[in-house]
Amino acid sequence: MHTILRQADTEAIRQAARLLLADETVAVPTETVYGLAANALSDVAVRKIFEAKGRPQDNPLISHIASMEMLPMVVRSVSECAYRLAEAFWPGPLTIILPRARGLADAVCAGLDTAAVRMPAHPAARALIEASGVPFAAPSANLSGSPSPTTAEDVLADMDGRIPLILDGGPCDVGVESTVISLVGAEPVLLRPGRITAGQLQQVLGRPAVLSNAVLHPLEQGEAAASPGMKYKHYAPKAEIMLIKGSLDAYKTYVETHLEEGVYALCFTGEEQTLPCPCVTYGRADSPEEQAHELFSALRMLDAHGARLAYAHCPAQQGVALAVYNRLLRAAAFHVVEVS
Ligand code: AMP
Ligand code: MG
Repeated sequence: MHTILRQADTEAIRQAARLLLADETVAVPTETVYGLAANALSDVAVRKIFEAKGRPQDNPLISHIASMEMLPMVVRSVSECAYRLAEAFWPGPLTIILPRARGLADAVCAGLDTAAVRMPAHPAARALIEASGVPFAAPSANLSGSPSPTTAEDVLADMDGRIPLILDGGPCDVGVESTVISLVGAEPVLLRPGRITAGQLQQVLGRPAVLSNAVLHPLEQGEAAASPGMKYKHYAPKAEIMLIKGSLDAYKTYVETHLEEGVYALCFTGEEQTLPCPCVTYGRADSPEEQAHELFSALRMLDAHGARLAYAHCPAQQGVALAVYNRLLRAAAFHVVEVS
């Protein structure tokens, strides 16, 4: 298959909408990361997403809508909490899990009776939903397991020859995937941290969401995944990643005493001058937003340099930084070294 990459202008959006309505897939920019979209109401279309990505069948997808009127196409009941969250954070990087609508393609939900829904803020994503008139299901537009794409070039690197069209909307603003909150149980549960923080959710809900065990820990043998996507090694470059948790001095000492062929430091911007090996930076230490924005391109950069092993300076674990930490933990397959 020939893959076309084009600017996400009006004509390109029309072409993309025609493809969606013909059960094809299209890569589309969103404010979080690039998504690989297909008509969420068509099983044939949605199965093509799994095929193109090599994604495990039991990992459900997020459906994207452009207006509250489209919500019943995806979910069959909406709690008061859900309306409050939608009011506060949509359009934006928050995904809400609710009971699924019957008309949603089965492949979207991967056998669950629940569905994930979000209203994206990116103008190209919204224009595509409006032009096609259907919600699109979309995971990140990367090969399953590798770092999420934050530019159209990243998408092309993974998806060339696998999908017909990539809409180029420039680099993504947020850089990590949406926050995922489940509202189907007795308590709200934060399944995946993102740019919308636990603190922001608490303010709107009036109580804290329970942090899913999967955010910070690998699944135990036999444990069921509340969010199936969290059970896989994920976001990982070819280079092995080790997370080094400690002060800059302790991090420096660790790197200095563990130098090997092909070793890189994945450090905060400004730290590279003081480290004795090649470095890739991922934002300033005091800016988790910048870290989120840079993280996936930094992971891809390590592979472009042919790094074998990277010592990553560990981010903080609160607020937006929790999202960065969660992705790095998985990229590192939970390999963390505490130094002091
Ligand atoms: P991705 O689009 O690749 O970031 O993956 C979507 C994420 O949303 C995965 O972690 C899924 O496990 C999660 N997700 C989607 N639908 C559901 C659902 N019905 N219940 C729980 N998690 C879900
Ligand atoms: Mg993904």
